[in-house]
Amino acid sequence: MGEWPSEQNIKSCVFKNGWLGEREKKLFGKERSLDDPVEMRFGITSERFTAQLKKPLEGSQWSGIITRMAVRAFEENMVEGVVTLRRSSDDHFFSVPVLADNRDEIYRTRGNKPVLSPVLRSLETARQRGMKKILVIGAACHMHALRDFQERFDHLKEMDILTIGIPCVDNVSRSKWRWILERMSKSPETARFMEFMQDFRIHIGHADGSVEKIPFFSLPEELADPGIFPESCMSCFDYLNSLADITVGYIGAELIEGEKMQWVLVRTPTGKKLIDLLSEELARCPETGSWECRKFVLNASKSIMENMRQIDRQYSTKRKIPLWLGQFMAAMLRRNGPKGIGFAHYSVDFHLIRHYYYVKYRFPDLLEKIVPRHVPVILTEYGLPL
Ligand SMILES: Cc1cc2nc3c(=O)[nH]c(=O)nc-3n(C[C@H](O)[C@H](O)[C@H](O)COP(=O)(O)OP(=O)(O)OC[C@H]3O[C@@H](n4cnc5c(N)ncnc54)[C@H](O)[C@@H]3O)c2cc1C
Repeated sequence: MGEWPSEQNIKSCVFKNGWLGEREKKLFGKERSLDDPVEMRFGITSERFTAQLKKPLEGSQWSGIITRMAVRAFEENMVEGVVTLRRSSDDHFFSVPVLADNRDEIYRTRGNKPVLSPVLRSLETARQRGMKKILVIGAACHMHALRDFQERFDHLKEMDILTIGIPCVDNVSRSKWRWILERMSKSPETARFMEFMQDFRIHIGHADGSVEKIPFFSLPEELADPGIFPESCMSCFDYLNSLADITVGYIGAELIEGEKMQWVLVRTPTGKKLIDLLSEELARCPETGSWECRKFVLNASKSIMENMRQIDRQYSTKRKIPLWLGQFMAAMLRRNGPKGIGFAHYSVDFHLIRHYYYVKYRFPDLLEKIVPRHVPVILTEYGLPL
């Protein structure tokens, strides 16, 4: 035992139930407004701000807000255990599902594992151990399945389940991870941290503390092949994890050298209780940046559509453009392009356009079933065909 039966996952999967829609309505008593451009992109929130821990947590992905909230919720007896992931001993970037039930175990779960991960397996461990109050940390696909499980299973109805969501995009399957990392980094063996950043570059941190910065535009062309990403992630329409009590990312925070600013989206009263646990420890700031990013999204959308349409295209192993030119373009965009919430707006729209055309050209039967109703509204705003 100890594993959640896979037929239950299939029954509660978003590809059966669709993204958001009824789920969002059940949680918030309403679906996101189609008249509110910000809510359409960021989901329903009661409060949003940027913040970092005054004392960043060594080894966490950013400043460690998620891990500290989990530890504080445990210390305050709000939860008996945390359903999340720890690092595998085989590969720094691989995960093992865990039910962390003491402070050290919870600390050990910090940091990203950028691979598809069966987070919800530990729900069954929590049930077997008779826990009544748990915290679940996961991506949007985990939250969608969890919300469905909470309706279907009596023992979960009786549990108090608090949730923290990560924004998530471009996750990969384990079998592809090393192949991808080898094509991004000059030194894949020493890589310890990887993130797609607001300066239009991938930052890869290494064991010796150095950071490699590769412009998105200069990656080998073969990394633009949608076939290297899991079909499930390419069909995701909830980048910002809208069914979690609170989402903690970085993408809507302005990138400031030497800082670890994060972006916090409080969605429910439970999310507010969780973030309030850190009131003394957080340096908080209002969101910054201007909302407008239309021309940048439109510039990218033509090639996204083409790329999603060409199902049998052969991709070259060469860089799309030379590194020096990519660095120049990234620097120009960093200066003149969207920042703060404008960058989050850009990134949400970029991915939902990419995923809409991915599903449209590769799984047209799923289009009606899984695409939430705000997506066609946004595409229409840009004058893009449905
Ligand atoms: C594949 C991937 C893509 C992401 N893309 C974005 C993005 O585009 N924009 C953005 O703002 N944020 C993104 N994030 C989230 C971001 O990188 C940070 O995890 C988040 O900001 C929290 O930082 P922290 O320092 O508070 O986290 P920490 O305190 O280090 O805690 C991170 C938590 O996330 C859990 N976790 C790690 N990997 C996974 C996983 N694969 N599945 C489920 N849970 C996991 C850990 O177990 C831990 O509980 C992504 C995360 C992943 C894994």
